[in-house]
Amino acid sequence: MESFVLSNALYLGKAVDVVVREGRIDALYPHGDAPQAEGLTKVDARGQVLFPSFIDAHTHLREPGFEWKEDVASGLSAAAHGGFGAVMCMANTSPVNDEGSVTRFIIERGRMAWPYGPRVHPIAAATVGLKGELMAPLAELCEAGCVAVSNDGVPLKNSDILRRVMEYADDLGLMVIDHCEDPWLAKGSCMNEGVTSGKLGLRGQPDAAEAIQALRDIMLAEYLGVAVHIAHVSCARTVDAIRWGKSRGVRVSAETCPHYLFLDESAMEGYNIYARINPPLRTRADVQALRQAVADGTIDILVTDHSPHAIHEKEMPVSEAPNGFTGMDLAVAVTYGLVREGVIDEALFIERWCTRPGALFKLPTNSFRQGDPADFFLFDPNLTWTVSPENLYSKSCNTPWIGQTLKGRLTAHWMGGRQIV
Ligand SMILES: [Zn+2]
Repeated sequence: MESFVLSNALYLGKAVDVVVREGRIDALYPHGDAPQAEGLTKVDARGQVLFPSFIDAHTHLREPGFEWKEDVASGLSAAAHGGFGAVMCMANTSPVNDEGSVTRFIIERGRMAWPYGPRVHPIAAATVGLKGELMAPLAELCEAGCVAVSNDGVPLKNSDILRRVMEYADDLGLMVIDHCEDPWLAKGSCMNEGVTSGKLGLRGQPDAAEAIQALRDIMLAEYLGVAVHIAHVSCARTVDAIRWGKSRGVRVSAETCPHYLFLDESAMEGYNIYARINPPLRTRADVQALRQAVADGTIDILVTDHSPHAIHEKEMPVSEAPNGFTGMDLAVAVTYGLVREGVIDEALFIERWCTRPGALFKLPTNSFRQGDPADFFLFDPNLTWTVSPENLYSKSCNTPWIGQTLKGRLTAHWMGGRQIV
């Protein structure tokens, strides 16, 4: 069914009817006022919250090479059930996405598994094998369908290589997504450096490890007159660096993840392996600074940094366990907490998860205007559910929210007017 009327949904706090024709938005009316709705099948939204399909601009789908953790099909399943219509995946697969054939393979896997969406948009490796030595063939990767460039997972130490990557990416109209981490300051760490790491006797990573590279790269972007996007910002110091760059007119944008907005380093108490991530969970003050930055626009977008690992890989001593959380299944439910707590309103929530990433990475989005793709989902803000491996669609369940009760969940999702969930 590609033509119907979605009736009585709550959009930006108002009851609306949405008329969908042939997979596109025809019109949005106050509830009950839809003259064009005659003869169309009615889908009752029963006062649920309506959102355009979101974009997750930072995920790890693990295929090719690590299919026991996740594959493109299962990752897109988590996306479809989590409210994401477009997913950008990082290049640290095996083989690395540093040639066009890998890019085309990932896109093809996505199309085969989810022909109507969610869509997968690969991110090109910045350097061959992510080794930080030789620039990857960015023009070939762009032509194959990559929508951005990143060395995510392995920070680029060599500023001159980063410079070349930034210049080439800019020529190709691609954004560089910058994993900022001073590898020497961060070496061997498994959590934030501070009172808690001292108490637990674990090696900590100072927040300056992130902020130092962010500052370097913002300055480089200013010097070259190009754009840079700072990945997974975890601390107040990096927020200050971005704010400084923006105040000087540098084309710097930034992202943060649900966990940095809701959890702090105390989650590591008891040597909790499910709280281990890179960059690490920081302090309560950092959480507050990041929330402020999401509200005032210093942080442009929200992303999940969805990083699946199998249970047998995570069940290790905390100093050896791999970093990362899954996120696409949960992110909207968790971050809707920002709306509930009054940090941002629903309009800004949509901006951070949809409109702004769409503009940054030149991906189509739905603003419920005539002709927009009919990509949207319904979210029941009052539905409570307990996070368990059985109700997550990712192959992995390494999330610190496991066993916890969340409020709010997606109940249906359409792409191109077709119901996918
Ligand atoms: Zn990263």
